[in-house]
Order: sequence, then structure tokens, then C-alpha cells
Amino acid sequence: MLTKTKIYLSSPHMGGSEQKFVADAFDTNWIAPLGPHVDGFENDLTNYLGGNKHIAALSSGTAAIHIALQLLDISKGDEVLCQSFTFSASANPVIYQGATPVFIDSESDTWNMSPELLEIAIKDRIENYKKPKAIIAVHLYGMPYKANEINAIAKKYEIPVIEDSAEALGSTYFGQACGTLSDIGILSFNGNKIITTSGGGALIANTESLKKKTVFLSTQARDNAPHYEHSSIGFNYRMSNVLAGIGRGQMEVLDDRVDARRRNFEYYKKNISKNNNISFLEEPENLFSNRWITCVETSSFEQRESIRLELLKDDIESRPLWKPMHMQPVFKDCLHFTDGTSEKLFEKGLCLPSGSNLSENDLERIVSIINKNPVHDK
Ligand SMILES: *Cc1c(COP(=O)(O)O)cnc(C)c1O
Repeated sequence: MLTKTKIYLSSPHMGGSEQKFVADAFDTNWIAPLGPHVDGFENDLTNYLGGNKHIAALSSGTAAIHIALQLLDISKGDEVLCQSFTFSASANPVIYQGATPVFIDSESDTWNMSPELLEIAIKDRIENYKKPKAIIAVHLYGMPYKANEINAIAKKYEIPVIEDSAEALGSTYFGQACGTLSDIGILSFNGNKIITTSGGGALIANTESLKKKTVFLSTQARDNAPHYEHSSIGFNYRMSNVLAGIGRGQMEVLDDRVDARRRNFEYYKKNISKNNNISFLEEPENLFSNRWITCVETSSFEQRESIRLELLKDDIESRPLWKPMHMQPVFKDCLHFTDGTSEKLFEKGLCLPSGSNLSENDLERIVSIINKNPVHDK
């Protein structure tokens, strides 16, 4: 009997040159942190993102958000406005800094931070003498948030924006790369992201001096002295030269990965039967998503679960959409400005397998199970 292989939600997909770069790191004994691949990877990213940013490769996207908050002097007692519909790593670093997250719901046409709710929240916090110190907005699943609207509000109230672009490398907003649309951007190269270094991240800064500060803080904050001298608290957050080698190989295939993930989306949209009452998140005009994960909104929690469980029976991984942060036990005491949008998405939404290495056969197998699933009424 033919054994079927497990289909993952989003698995690493090497291009071919990664091993060459890693071998080079071994051959030259640049195994220690830093080295030429780190510079090379940062240059590749800078060029890819449009050439006018200053990028520091770090150990994770979470580390990048943590450093971003420090660059903005976020500290104990401060409030930070954060998109509720996201992965917890967007919000956790706020807690690391002793600050308090306040969660903002999404809008239905991008599933990202609602500009209206953002402004309502800012006004409320200012009235309560708690002007927020930063905004963390997220390009969830690769779909750009409405940066013009968010930036206009941020500017009006003079609050800096951290752009969580962990899921959106390769996405663009009015032609401009996601990650470069705000004061500070971050990327992730975790194993499930569109490209991976097995684990890694980057901070995208507007100036060379902010990049220098990022590198300083992420390499233990050593002052300039022959011995180890410290006048601030540092972190061990820099990316290693070996992993940056993997990143350089991955950058060669990034555009192919975006194409492949967008093809997955198109395949699902075309082949999932209309009878299923399943809807897809379309791209608003001038927004280009890398379609990191193809997400669908089913007609009910029951339908969502029955599809998920049927797929699981065939060893196919799918997953409910992110559980909003304002619903998470760990953040239950946090203020939130919500209107039910992300709660509804969490109830009915499902992430379908979306790896760039899925075959046509894999996609057929997935869709045939979904189409066999009984239809539920709205
Ligand atoms: C993956 C992810 C992060 C964290 O990145 P890591 O590299 O895994 O630390 C942050 N925000 C979002 C939205 C993510 O998807």
C-alpha cells in the first residue's frame, strides 16, 4: 500500500545554495557569532527591501521586537498599543520591558489593526493621562496593514510605530516593501516563515546610528575598552555567522517562495467548492500579500472543526487562526479596544497547509478532503 506523507502547515524549504554558504563558514572557521555572512545577509536584506534601510540580523523576531522597544525607551509603567489578532511574540516583549500592552482589534478587510479603534484607544488613554508610548502593528499572514491610515494617526498623536513584519517578508504596500513602512520594522526567519535560517530575525532601522545601537545592545552592550566595561544592560541577541549563511542561500529563492505561496492561495480559491460557503481574504487595491499562509473563513465553528479534524485523519496539518491576545489567559487583565472582528475570525477561521514545497498532488489531496466535508448553513 502506498503510504501517504504527512503534510505540514508550513515547513522549511531550502533552495540549494544554503549548504555552500554554511560550508564556507566552516572552511573559514567563521563559526563564532558575527563574520562575513552576517554582513552579507544584512546587505541582501537591505537591497531586497529597497536599499535605504539599516538592518541588524538578530537571533529571533521576538528579540528584534524587544530591542525595538528599548530603542524607543519603553519602560516600566508605559502603555503600548498592540494588535490583538497576532502571535503572542508581538506582545510578550512589552511585558519583558515591564510595560503594559493595550490590545486593538482588527478591521475586516485586512484582518489587521483597525485605524478607527486605534484612534479611539489613543484618545481614551490620553484622557486617562496614559498616552501610549508605541504602537505595534502586524502584517498578519503576510497581508499588509493599512500603513497610510495607521501612520497618519501615529503622526497626529506623535507615537512611534513598530512594524511587525515577521510574516510579511516579500509583501508590499503601494509598491513599498513591508518592514520598511514605519519607524522600526522587524522580520523573523523562524522555521515556519517564508524563508528561514532555522531561527533568526532582523531589526530594520531608519538610521545607521539606530542599527549601531541595536548591534551594541544585542552583543552584550560592551563599552569601548580593552576589558569588559558595561554602562548599560545588554543581550545576547545577535545572529550567528553559520545561520546567516543559510539566510543568504534563502534570499536567492525568496521571490520563488512568494510565487509558490501565492499559487497555493490561487489553487485553494479556484478548487475549493463554492458549496462549502468558505471565503478568502482578498487583497485590497495596492496591497500585495506574500500569502505566507492561506487562511479561510468557514461558515461556523462546527464546520471549521470538522474540516480540521478530517484533514488531521489524513495526516494533514491545519490550524485555527491566531487566538486574539485579549482572549488569552495571560493577558486577561489587559485593556482592550475590540469590536468582535478577531473573535469571529478565531471562531471560524482556518489556516490551510501553505508551504512553498507543497506539490500539486498535496494540494489535490487537501482540497478533495475539504470538498467531501458536509456543507454547513450560515
Ligand atoms: C513568528 C512571529 C514573531 C516572532 O518571531 P520569532 O523569530 O519566532 O521570534 C513575531 N510576530 C509574529 C506576527 C510572528 O508570526
